[in-house]
Amino acid sequence: MHEMTVAAGILSAALGASRGKKIRTVALVVGELAGIEEECLGLCWEAVSEDTLCSDSRLDIRYVPAELVCRDCGRKFPLRENRMLLCPFCGGEARLANRADELYIASVETYDKTNT
Ligand SMILES: [Zn+2]
Repeated sequence: MHEMTVAAGILSAALGASRGKKIRTVALVVGELAGIEEECLGLCWEAVSEDTLCSDSRLDIRYVPAELVCRDCGRKFPLRENRMLLCPFCGGEARLANRADELYIASVETYDKTNT
């Protein structure tokens, strides 16, 4: 399962960033083309984070939709509505406008006595 591998990677990165503190929230940025099922990742996260400093933590996932841009008219539109890579406005050829295959940790929030 792809999500399990991803969850394990997030866990080790989050633990590395937390410097031994218990983790409250891990903010993730996930691109539409990263091939991640959000719900599935959540379940995998619960599984891998059990009995670690990340147990009971929350994954805060920011989903980044893939966007296309037309080579002819320059207009942007979401990939979701257009799998043919053709511009809905002029019929021109479109290409990806952003990198929607990324997956990275935006921030790690720990439980901190000075900040409750
Ligand atoms: Zn166009």
